[in-house]
Amino acid sequence: MKSLNTEKEYVRGGAIHASATSVLIKTGTWRVFRPVMDHLKCRVCKRCYWYCTDNCIEWLTLKRSLLLATPPLSIDYDYCKGCGICAHECPSEAIQMEREEVMV
Ligand code: SF4
Ligand code: SF4
Repeated sequence: MKSLNTEKEYVRGGAIHASATSVLIKTGTWRVFRPVMDHLKCRVCKRCYWYCTDNCIEWLTLKRSLLLATPPLSIDYDYCKGCGICAHECPSEAIQMEREEVMV
């Protein structure tokens, strides 16, 4: 396949022209609702981690979490699209979806 030389060239159809481009695209800008975690309610079951459609829930081991003095689970808002699946699947209702602030 011919390689792309300029930004004006494009690939017809669903061809993959480069690998790992998803890291470059901050999909968090698409979000309308933001998942907010209540760490006091969280049972650290990791259900949200497994169900996240974008793999943007970060998991620290308990040891690392204690060392860094941060909760073991956190959401990477650069990539979270706000689909709400994590909130739907959480058995403790520890994740609430809140509307993003409108930027003007
Ligand atoms: S699903 Fe809920 S309780 Fe389980 S780890 Fe995620 S936030 Fe915590
Ligand atoms: S809202 Fe969707 S994309 Fe964002 S952390 Fe939850 S499951 Fe992942």
